[in-house]
Amino acid sequence: MILPIKIYPDKILRQRAKKVVSLKDKKIQRLIWDLAETMKEKDGAGLAAPQVGKSLRIIVVNTKDGVMPLINPKIWLRSFKKELAEEGCLSLPEIFGLVKRSSFAIVSARTQAGKRLRFTARGLLARVICHEVDHLKGVLFIDKVKKITKGEKELAELKSHNT
Ligand code: ZN
Repeated sequence: MILPIKIYPDKILRQRAKKVVSLKDKKIQRLIWDLAETMKEKDGAGLAAPQVGKSLRIIVVNTKDGVMPLINPKIWLRSFKKELAEEGCLSLPEIFGLVKRSSFAIVSARTQAGKRLRFTARGLLARVICHEVDHLKGVLFIDKVKKITKGEKELAELKSHNT
């Protein structure tokens, strides 16, 4: 099912997401499938559960091998080496900006089946995972942006709804 995306400044985007307790929960499994479907439909590089109104530590990222769901993801190490690149976000439509992110990161998580994962993400994958894990802390790319490259007016407009 395609889920509606919460748009900034929706309050849920600023909450800290809760840890997933059981992957045997059918509602959680359903949410993971729906997140994957919604990300593909919206052509996103990644999507975090708070963006569809569920304050849970679940993200999905698009990789060359398909959709990778990461449950309770944790970043253990962020490289000192950083790269500046353009980012967008489905919760901030039409807005893009340059964000500095680590060029690689060591990530642990559980798979949708509950298997423990630990891997090194590099380049774009590291960027997307860091962006999505930020969502779980209530952090948005506009908090870290060096320069807005597109949609400055749209951003000002969205911010004006912030009361
Ligand atoms: Zn985002």
